[in-house]
Amino acid sequence: MQKPPTPVNEAQRLQALRSYDILDTPPERDFDDLVAIAAAVCDAPIALVSLIDEQRQWFKARTGLAARQTPRELAFCAHAILRPDQTLVVPDARDDARFAGNPLVLDDPNIRFYAGAPLVTPEGHALGTLCVIDTKPRDLADKQHQALTALSRQASRAMELRRVSRALARQLQESEWYEHRLLQYQSELEASNAALEASNADLAALTRTDPLTGLPNRRAFALALEQAVARSHAAAPLQVAVLDIDHFKTINDVHGHAEGDRVLLAVADALRLYAPGPGSVARYGGEEFLLLFEAPQPQAQLQCEFVREAIANLPLGLPLTVSIGLAAYRTGEEPAATFARADQALYAAKRGGRNRVVLAESE
Ligand code: GH3
Ligand code: MG
Ligand code: MG
Repeated sequence: MQKPPTPVNEAQRLQALRSYDILDTPPERDFDDLVAIAAAVCDAPIALVSLIDEQRQWFKARTGLAARQTPRELAFCAHAILRPDQTLVVPDARDDARFAGNPLVLDDPNIRFYAGAPLVTPEGHALGTLCVIDTKPRDLADKQHQALTALSRQASRAMELRRVSRALARQLQESEWYEHRLLQYQSELEASNAALEASNADLAALTRTDPLTGLPNRRAFALALEQAVARSHAAAPLQVAVLDIDHFKTINDVHGHAEGDRVLLAVADALRLYAPGPGSVARYGGEEFLLLFEAPQPQAQLQCEFVREAIANLPLGLPLTVSIGLAAYRTGEEPAATFARADQALYAAKRGGRNRVVLAESE
C-alpha cells in the first residue's frame, strides 16, 4: 500500500474546500440523488460523494457504506484527486501496488473495484470524487464511465450552486439587516427632528403668550393688529380697545397678590368669553388688556359697554370695574397710532371717573 502523495497547490486546494462550507454538514437531497444514480448506472453496491480534507475523507453523500469518513491515507479518492481531469479506475485493488495492503481492501468493506471521478472547482482544484465501489473485481463499460464522469460534473455544479446560494442568502440577510438599521436610524432622526420642531414651536408660542393668563401678549397683539390692518376692508372698521382694571393696586394691597392674580385670570376668562365679535384678546401687561375686533360705530362702543358690564358683574366676591378706551383704525395710519389714540381715550375714561367706555376722537 502506498500513502497518497500530496497534490500540488494543496494549501490552495484546502482553502477552496473550506470556502464551500460543506464539511460535516447534514445530508442533502441533491448529493444523495447523485450517489443513488451513480450506484444504479454503474451497478455498484457502494457510491460516495467524498471530499478530501487535510487528514480524512468525509462523505457528503453515501450509499452502501456505513462509515461517514475514513483516514485520508486509506482513501482511494486521495489518489483520484491527483489527476483532476481523469476518472481513476482500479479494476482489482489487490493487484494495484497503491492499494494492495489497504485495510479497506483486506478487511471490511473489502474493496476490490473502485472508479472515482474528481469533483473539480471552476479554478481547477479537485476537492474529492464521486466514486463507485464494488466488492468484486470488475470494470466499467464505456457508457458507465462517461455517465460517472457526467455525474461528477453534476456533483461539482451542485457544490458550486450550494456555495453561491449560501453566499447570496448571507448577503440578503446582511442587506436586510442594513435596511433595518437604516430604517431605525431614519425613524430616530425623524423623531428627534419632530421633537426639535415641537420645541421650536413651543418656544415661538411662548414668546407670544402671557404666562399667567395664557392670552396672547403685547407682541402677539401688535402682530395681529398689523395683519388685521393689512387685510382690512372698508365693510366694517377695525376697532382697538384698551381695557384697564380700576384701582387694581388696591386689590393687591388689600387682598394680596395671589388674589390679584385670581382677578386677572377671571378678567382674562371673561374677555375670552365676551370678546366682541370675531376679534382677538391680549394681555397688554399688568392689569391692562386689549381687544381687536371689526364693527361699525356705534355697535363697537355698545360691545365695549357690554364687556364692561360683564366684568362688573363677575361673581368675584369683591367689587371690580374696568375702564375702556376705544379707537377705530383710520385708513393709512400706522397701527401703533390707532393704539395710541385708544390709550389716550382710556386715560380720559380714568379721568372721567373710571368704570366707563370712552371713544377716541374720530378726526
Ligand atoms: P387705575 O385705576 O388708575 O388703573 O389704578 P390701578 O391701581 O389699577 O393702577 P396702577 O398702575 O397704580 O397699579 C397697577 C397694579 O397692578 C400695580 C402692580 O403691582 C399690579 N400688577 C401688575 N401686574 C400684576 C400681576 O401680574 N399680578 C398682580 N397680582 N398684580 C399685578
Ligand atoms: Mg394700568
Ligand atoms: Mg388700573
